[in-house]
Amino acid sequence: MLTCKDVSDMASDYMDGPTTLLQRANFRLHLLMCVLCRRYFRQLKLASGVMGKFELPAEPGDEETDALVSKLN
Ligand SMILES: [Zn+2]
Repeated sequence: MLTCKDVSDMASDYMDGPTTLLQRANFRLHLLMCVLCRRYFRQLKLASGVMGKFELPAEPGDEETDALVSKLN
């Protein structure tokens, strides 16, 4: 499981790529569980002007995340 530090280290890679499916899954899982990182990442996204390029998981249980979680389990 990623730590908050891992997420902040990965954040720019995550937006710019390249990342693996597993990295993206772990990243999304952390964001789903950690409001601090969700807030941080939203700020980062706003600051870097990539609005619309990437949708944050707004609520737990969105379909893509469910699919990823079921693969990981
Ligand atoms: Zn976190």
